Amino acid sequence: MTTKVDALVIGAGVAGLYQIHQLREAGLSVQGVEAGSDVGGTWYWNRYPGAKFDSESYIYQYLFDEDLYKDWSWSERFPGQPEIEQWLHYVTDRLDLRKDIRFSTRVTKADFNEDTGRWRVETDTGDSYDTQFVIGCTGMLSAPLEDRFPGQTSFKGAIVHTGKYPKDGLDLDGKRVGVIGTGATGIQVIQTIADRVGELKVFVRTPQYVLPMKSPKYGPEETAWYKSRFDELKRNLPITFTGFEYDFENTWSDLTPEERLEVLEDIHADGSLKLWLASFAEMFFDEEVSAEISQFVREKMSERLKDPKLIDILVPKAGDYGFGTHRVPLETNYLEAYLRDNVEAISVRDNPIAEIVPEGVKLQDGTVYELDVIIMAVGFDAGSGALARIDINGRDGMNLRDEWAKDIRTTLGIQKYGFPNLFMTGAPLAPSAALCNMTTCLQQQTEWITDCILYMRAHGKSVMEPTADGEDAWVAHHDETANATLISKTDSWYTGSNVEGKPRRVLSYCGGVGTYRQKCLDIAEKGYEGFELA
Ligand code: NAP
Repeated sequence: MTTKVDALVIGAGVAGLYQIHQLREAGLSVQGVEAGSDVGGTWYWNRYPGAKFDSESYIYQYLFDEDLYKDWSWSERFPGQPEIEQWLHYVTDRLDLRKDIRFSTRVTKADFNEDTGRWRVETDTGDSYDTQFVIGCTGMLSAPLEDRFPGQTSFKGAIVHTGKYPKDGLDLDGKRVGVIGTGATGIQVIQTIADRVGELKVFVRTPQYVLPMKSPKYGPEETAWYKSRFDELKRNLPITFTGFEYDFENTWSDLTPEERLEVLEDIHADGSLKLWLASFAEMFFDEEVSAEISQFVREKMSERLKDPKLIDILVPKAGDYGFGTHRVPLETNYLEAYLRDNVEAISVRDNPIAEIVPEGVKLQDGTVYELDVIIMAVGFDAGSGALARIDINGRDGMNLRDEWAKDIRTTLGIQKYGFPNLFMTGAPLAPSAALCNMTTCLQQQTEWITDCILYMRAHGKSVMEPTADGEDAWVAHHDETANATLISKTDSWYTGSNVEGKPRRVLSYCGGVGTYRQKCLDIAEKGYEGFELA
């Protein structure tokens, strides 16, 4: 059966929930489609041990409704996944969103009909939709890289990707557990399970710069403090560089070496991402500043690890890559986990994992690590992956997966030339692809999309698409901004280098959240300059 709607929203995470709410409030008929059995998106799928925020809880909330904001209270500065999932359930119930979402349903195909200017959307449950607009709220880290090693299906124990961690959990107590990957996810898993498991083998390829997290509990006083800042947060978050509450305040060249160290020490002690996102902007552009700040972080890590062998495996080396040129994880006693007798760090940099065998993990030199459970914290096909896994066919036979296999291009990270009336959030070439407090950016993008749809309706337009020139201009501006940073020179999911064959491009817009927002507003103000409306 085909259901006719005005808008189909794919995904019921932070972006999808708010997008459904807005369009429904604006009088459109809206259908949400969600692969999970409930709402939450990232916070539904990533239920691995230790999953938690590293944005401060009170800045991750929606700011469009003061009562919705103030009627929810957090237990600590950086709460864990169960609490975050509960918060999204609270929002869903408050806004009565569930009735418009089809759960346990995955969108498999979307075809644009040039005659009608509408999309036909198909799902794996056999439902189909005839819709004017398709809005992909599919998340920037929701396409897990599950098939990473040969022989995975031969493993006799349990093998799981963190992005598909079972709802009922896994029995890890006393078991021989292997964790592959030490990104933000692996680190949270390792620090959480180290004292529960029998043996923990951590397979480390590229060492990570890490920062210690401080997550004080919130009582009535702290809760009253952050709630009293609602107006300030609403005003400031959208205009800072990364959508967090803090912004760059210091200039490296203005300070003496002693003053710089004082600033770094002070910010390091904050226990947040501030050292990365709001210490010295020069670290992203200037090799020398990057080298000095990287050295500061390496020393902090080495002091805690003490053991030269551990330092060699776990601390990035000078010249490898700079601090903050890919995602910096926050941690709690992560490094100390390696000081335990039951935990071993195994470097797979020069002796890579060759395959998974029935007994465990086999390295290139033939060494086999026998395991009961393998936790794959190996990451995602970020930014483009979720939409590229759907068979999306736009105008003139253009297929989104094929287009992005050649070159990852979008306009504002919101639309793509050749795909009329397809909107996206958390997609490449916008800050929401990586460099952002997600809720700040997803609110801004979904609000822009809503305004755009209402503008079309008010002006008797039914189809909207970026022009070829408009897209060229955005891609050129994006590249100019991104390629000026050291991020573009570092391998990670930020540049797509974690997926074999993926065209290299910095996924996130690097000009800053506030600048991006202003550019989006200016484009709308000029009647959607760079887009064709018909
Ligand atoms: P990731 O950052 O891409 O890390 C993947 C890890 O797996 C890396 O250490 C990588 O090593 C390793 N790996 C991949 N293939 C491998 C192989 N064949 N052999 C050995 N190691 C391999 O993925 P992630 O940790 O899932 O994090 C993704 C993003 O999710 C984060 O950057 C962050 O934005 C987000 N996240 C957020 C939170 C939070 O704040 N609340 C928590 C977790 C994740 P190489 O570096 O050598 O490739």
